[in-house]
Amino acid sequence: MITFEEAFRIVTESSFRIGKEVVRLDEAAGRALVVAVRSDMDMPPWNKSAVDGYACRHEDLGHELTVLETVAAGVMPSAEVVPGTCSRIMTGAAVPAGADYVFMLEDSEELTGGKVRFTGRPGNDNIAKAGEDIMKDQTVLRSGHIIKPQDIAVLASVGAMEVTVSCRPKVGVISTGNELVEPDRVPAGAQIRNSNSSQLLAQIARAGATGRYYGIARDEADSITTLLKKALEENDVVLISGGVSFGDFDLVPGVFRSLGLKMHFDQVAMQPGKPLTFCTGEKKAVFGLPGNPVSTFVQFEVMVRPFLNRMSGVSEQEPLLQMPLATDYSRKRAERLSWIPCTITPAGEAKPVEYHGSAHIYALTGAWGVITIPRGQSWIQKGEMVSVRQV
Ligand code: AMP
Ligand code: MG
Repeated sequence: MITFEEAFRIVTESSFRIGKEVVRLDEAAGRALVVAVRSDMDMPPWNKSAVDGYACRHEDLGHELTVLETVAAGVMPSAEVVPGTCSRIMTGAAVPAGADYVFMLEDSEELTGGKVRFTGRPGNDNIAKAGEDIMKDQTVLRSGHIIKPQDIAVLASVGAMEVTVSCRPKVGVISTGNELVEPDRVPAGAQIRNSNSSQLLAQIARAGATGRYYGIARDEADSITTLLKKALEENDVVLISGGVSFGDFDLVPGVFRSLGLKMHFDQVAMQPGKPLTFCTGEKKAVFGLPGNPVSTFVQFEVMVRPFLNRMSGVSEQEPLLQMPLATDYSRKRAERLSWIPCTITPAGEAKPVEYHGSAHIYALTGAWGVITIPRGQSWIQKGEMVSVRQV
C-alpha cells in the first residue's frame, strides 16, 4: 500500500496535456488560460481624478483660484492650469496639464467672481497616475491561470475580446453495482439509489470539465468491459465507481488488466478511499473510485480534480488553509492519512461534524470543508493548527 503523497505524485506525473481553443471573453470565466494576455494600454490611460473637486497646482492651495472650466469624465480638458487658476473636475476625468493636485468639493468654498478657495488640510493629491494600475505591454494574466470574474474585467479593460484556453477535459462516468437503481426509481428489496454518478457529474462540471454518463454496469466483467470500452473511446478520463475493493464481486481491477491498461496502484493509505485504483492507457486515464459516496467525493477532490487541472495546464495549487481545531480529536488507528468533514466556527476554528464514515454522504452537506489528519497522528489537541480544504 502506498502513501497518499506517493499516489498523488504518480497521478500528477501521469497527466497529459489536451488541446486548446479560442473562446470569447464572455465565455472565458472558469477556463484555464494557455496563452498569457498583455495590456494594449496604460491604466489609467492618463492622470485621473479620484474625486469630485478642483484640479490646481499644489503650491496654489493657499490662494483664491479662478475656475477655468468644468472637466467631466469622458471629456479631455481644454485649458492648462496656470498659477492662480484651477478647473472643476469630476471623478474619473483627466487631470488638466499644469495641475498636480485635486482638492475635494467637500474641502472647498465657492467665492464670487467665479473663484474658489481650498478649505481643507493638504494631504493626498487625489490623482491616479497614468499607468499606475497596469502598464502598456504588461502581462495581466499568465498562462495556467483559471479565469475568475474579476479577471474578466481586466480582460475587458485591455480589449482582450478572445482568449486561448485549454479545451475542457472530457470525463466519462460509470457506476457499478447490482444493488444500484437510478435516482428516479424507488429502490425495492436490496436495492439503493445510484448517487455517485450524479455527484461526480456535478464535481466534474465544477472542475471546468465536461462529464458524460454511461450508466450502471452490473457486477459482471462483460458488463463493466462494455461500458468502460465505450467511455474510454469517447473521453480523456474515465471515473468508475464501486467494485474496486477485494470482495467477491469487485471485478473492476480485473477488467482494467484485461483491457491492457497500466495499473499504477490499487490501494492507498488514506481514509476514506483506500481501494482507489489508477490506470493509464495512451493519452487516457482511469480512476477506479471506491463505491461509498464520501470516498468517491473526497477522492475526486483530492486526486481527480488536481489531475484534471494539470491536464488543462493549470499552474496554481489549490490552497490548504491552516486553522485551529475547535475540539480535541482522537482516533484508534493512525496508519492512514484521513479527511474528516468540518464546519468553521464564528471564531474561525475547524470543527468536525457528526460523521459515521464513508457511506454518510449527508455529513458532507453540512460541512464547509475537510480536515486533513496526517498519517501517524492519532490525537490532536483543541487549538492545534490543522489543514483544511474547502469542499
Ligand atoms: P463497492 O466499492 O462496490 O464495494 O461499494 C461500497 C459501498 O458503496 C456499498 O455499500 C455500495 O452499495 C455503495 N455504492 C457503490 N456504488 C454506489 C453508487 N453509485 N451510489 C451509491 N452508493 C454506492
Ligand atoms: Mg459494488
